[in-house]
Amino acid sequence: MPGNSLQLKKAGYQGIYLPELKIAMDGTHPDAKYTFVTHAHADHMHRNHSVHTHASKPTLALMKLRGFNGKSTPMEFLEPFETDRFKVTLYPAGHILGSAMIFIEWDEGSLLYTGDYRNPPSPATEGFEAPDNADYLITEATFGLPIYKWKSHEKLSDEIQSFARQCLEKDYTPVFLGYNLGKAQELLHLLRPLNHPMMIHGAGYKLCSVYEDFDVDLGNYEAYDRDNCEGKILVCPSSALSNGFASNVKKKKIAYCSGWASLESRRTQLTVDKLIPISDHLDFYELISFCERLSPKKVYITHTPNPKVVEHYLEKSGIVSEHMDLDSDADD
Ligand SMILES: [Zn+2]
Repeated sequence: MPGNSLQLKKAGYQGIYLPELKIAMDGTHPDAKYTFVTHAHADHMHRNHSVHTHASKPTLALMKLRGFNGKSTPMEFLEPFETDRFKVTLYPAGHILGSAMIFIEWDEGSLLYTGDYRNPPSPATEGFEAPDNADYLITEATFGLPIYKWKSHEKLSDEIQSFARQCLEKDYTPVFLGYNLGKAQELLHLLRPLNHPMMIHGAGYKLCSVYEDFDVDLGNYEAYDRDNCEGKILVCPSSALSNGFASNVKKKKIAYCSGWASLESRRTQLTVDKLIPISDHLDFYELISFCERLSPKKVYITHTPNPKVVEHYLEKSGIVSEHMDLDSDADD
């Protein structure tokens, strides 16, 4: 029977190490025998070439493009990796292409580590699926406050397409600000029905081939070319604007696409025309209901603005929880 607590340590920059099973997740640890990576965002993947890494096929392909050249074992979703001590299964996390939740089962219990996840999932991913239950849950709670409640995906998708259409009708060039990995490709995927040429910032462009290799339709796009970008639908990270992205285009309108766009203050901070709160993470209510559904003995909460709030709501549902401080900012 599992105890009430797990032995957990920090691995690397912000990952987790299970000393009992010698498993590191989303970080490296000198004593780890097995290292798993949930997805290829910079704050979850490592670049230590000497660490043999287990991850989904798209995650490994993306990691390679982002600088990891070590040995690896590709894993299929829902096909367990077994040793004599434990069994590990990857469940699709719906966050970005290849993103996985790590489910570990061993003699004394089971643990689900979410990494970053989103349910309902991004349409530019493998979808979302979770085990029926787990003894322990380690979950991020990036948007773990009741002010964060997302609109339906259909509404957000409409907002994105309408913004582009209205800009183009008035001869404005629409610029969508979204993180290079995940959000940028989701935007291309959502905008492709407009059948209008699109251009994406070079850093995001080089990652698109992996999406296409895994059958995500990104429509008619090419790499950003300053001299030919006027009148196209443009996609870039918010940092690119201050570095001169499309600065030669006089008539343009800018939409900021992120969970953080639900904060009105971002409009003036970033000087944008439109805020579209489309996130790669669960909102507060989705998070609480996921915890209720899984009904674990204990929830460990990471990456959250105020752990007391999530703890309070989980307590109301009879779920014991504890904050794990991994000290890191979310990228999207
Ligand atoms: Zn992420």
